Amino acid sequence: MLLICLPLLFVARQAQAWGFFGHRLLNRLAVYTLPPGMIGFYKANIDYLTVNATRPDSRRTIVPGEAPKHFLDVDRYGDSAEFKLPRKYADAVARYGEDSLLRHGIVPWNVVSMKNQLTAAFKAKDTDRILSLSADMGHYVADACVPLHTTRNYNGQLTGQRGIHGLWESRLPELLSADYDLFSGKAEYLERPSDAIWAAVIRSHAAVDSVLRFEKQLTAEYQEDQKFGYEQRGSQTVRAYSRDFSKAYHARLNGQVERQLRYASALIGDFWYTCWVDGGSPDLNKLTRQPSETEKQRLDREARETAAAPAVAAPGHDE
Ligand SMILES: [Zn+2]
Repeated sequence: MLLICLPLLFVARQAQAWGFFGHRLLNRLAVYTLPPGMIGFYKANIDYLTVNATRPDSRRTIVPGEAPKHFLDVDRYGDSAEFKLPRKYADAVARYGEDSLLRHGIVPWNVVSMKNQLTAAFKAKDTDRILSLSADMGHYVADACVPLHTTRNYNGQLTGQRGIHGLWESRLPELLSADYDLFSGKAEYLERPSDAIWAAVIRSHAAVDSVLRFEKQLTAEYQEDQKFGYEQRGSQTVRAYSRDFSKAYHARLNGQVERQLRYASALIGDFWYTCWVDGGSPDLNKLTRQPSETEKQRLDREARETAAAPAVAAPGHDE
């Protein structure tokens, strides 16, 4: 019997915030928040946006500089840093130096940069860029909504809770999201996109304490063999947090995962919508409705390269 330790597998592939399941779900949900001027084009490409929601994680091993775009360890910068860090990337670079910023993650600054790029793609009426940037931006916005993407203790490795990253962002939604109400209403225009993504980071970071504390409390109530169990995944038997433990943790979090998923899907929709408006609200019905052959080939090539890349840890949020 082949035994694989699932929490360790998750660690080796850190920073897949929300896991594949969550990222795909979020880009898909965000499409339904869009106004009539956008929804037709996005629905026509919903499979593209869903499948490519996870591409930024896949390319972490082959694209230098990709890894820091997915997180921000705000607690590296001292108390309440999420309220004080410079909102402009250039100001942050001037204060901390780029090396240090890249080491501790840049997710909110990256989302603002993506916002400018997607706005430009709408202005240029460039279908390939609109789709590619929308898929990527959905990923990074979603990452900012994961509490453990805002702390240096991102996998509980500093507090004896190794594996909690995958538990919160993958195990819980995969096991328990069927009953969630994820309807998040209509996309809203963001007057200040930078403030909006920093608000997401602030909100995520505020949740870190309960994410860690509740797991610790529950662990004290469970025997090791109750906390973990073995499950069949295809032809493999894997060690995973037990269903009992996962459900109890989920209950103690009192809807937190569901609230963060709903918040993230709404925020992705808000960003896409804001880029479209700032890009001059182009008539998307007049655009080519599908990605070009060149774009499809580029994606195929990237997929082949990431599949062939050795599974080395990328810097930051990897162990
Ligand atoms: Zn990510």
